Amino acid sequence: MKTLVINCGSSSLKYQLIDMSNEESMVQGLVERIGIEGSALTQKTPGKGKHVINTEIKDHKDAIKLVLEALVNEEYGVIKSMDQISAVGHRVVHGGEKYSESVLITDEVLNSIRDCIALAPLHNPPNIIGIESCRELMPNIPMVAVFDTAFHQTMPKNAYICPLPYELYEKYGVRKYGFHGTSHKYVSNKVAEVMGKDIKDLKIVTCHLGNGCSLAAVKGGKSIDTSMGFTPLAGIMMGTRAGSIDPSVISFLIEEKGYTIEQVDEMLNKKSGVLGVSGVSSDFRDVRAAAQEGNERAQLALDIFHYKIKTQIAAYAGAMGGIDVIVFTAGIGENAALVRSESLKGLEFLGFNLDAKKNEIAGEIGEISTDDSRVKVYVIPTNEELMIARDTARLAQ
Ligand code: ADP
Repeated sequence: MKTLVINCGSSSLKYQLIDMSNEESMVQGLVERIGIEGSALTQKTPGKGKHVINTEIKDHKDAIKLVLEALVNEEYGVIKSMDQISAVGHRVVHGGEKYSESVLITDEVLNSIRDCIALAPLHNPPNIIGIESCRELMPNIPMVAVFDTAFHQTMPKNAYICPLPYELYEKYGVRKYGFHGTSHKYVSNKVAEVMGKDIKDLKIVTCHLGNGCSLAAVKGGKSIDTSMGFTPLAGIMMGTRAGSIDPSVISFLIEEKGYTIEQVDEMLNKKSGVLGVSGVSSDFRDVRAAAQEGNERAQLALDIFHYKIKTQIAAYAGAMGGIDVIVFTAGIGENAALVRSESLKGLEFLGFNLDAKKNEIAGEIGEISTDDSRVKVYVIPTNEELMIARDTARLAQ
């Protein structure tokens, strides 16, 4: 059984074909600049290298057609015909309160995903277009939606209700939803497996640190709190996103300083975070290099980033009544030893010490706390695609 995993963004589409017999990724690809001049598909196949197709890609349907052609291509493809694809799994950012699990896509499900557009105006529309295009091109293949919000649906009300007038929740669904759920679920289960423990017995803090960053408190295998909120803008500082700030800054900028709401929105989402403070870049590697060369604002951006992670971990220790294991994942979490050591500095009272040598690992599974630590610290590379493929294969059967 081969499962195609599709992750549609507004102008991009990432895909993987996963062989479920051994859970190996047969091919990984990216379609970029959909509907924009200079569009291209890049497909990487283990053993066959990278293949780039530069061609006009008008829309997501064009993109998916090209993906299917690339998968069956004699020279650089990996399957003989489309019939070998048994199911398609779609990453969907927002499932609202309706979905706490992945689900087989029907017309009704598609309508519910449409109902969530207002909650994720940037993300759900391209997800829907991806699903619609795939259904048109592969009408007989079962499709599954895997939601970023689903894993966090176990949060208790005291974690997800915003202290605003309650009718905003009742009327409009204003509440904390949380995101990166597929990743938090994957790494928390994986760390339990690696430790040889039952996840039901563990209190885990998962730190997903990529371009977007979020932490989750996972108690007994269930998310009981997470740092992102109503949208993926809340929580800790990120590459270009501010994370949680005093909302009065927004009315101050609009009323006193003449900003428009669009400008403020763009600022909070795209010009803040590590980029905004450092003035250098949103990419952690650039900012780290600038800080090493003596750029004080780059150093300040890193200091704030580490501080936000540290205080969020401490908050979740409180929420769960302790911690058994802390997990770092995603681009920064998996690779940046400095972020791990700096954000954990001062938290040793929780019951761990970092092993500096072990902490040098990058992009692989490993324990980085000392052997005598009561609380363990791990690096676990995330694999959202595999998680999507597993749910898809299970539901499609
Ligand atoms: P996304 O949220 O887009 O999936 P990623 O998980 O790929 O993002 O993370 C991107 C971040 O990871 C960038 O800030 C990048 O600088 C950082 N990163 C990637 N590789 C490394 C590395 N080897 N060392 C340090 N940081 C890295």
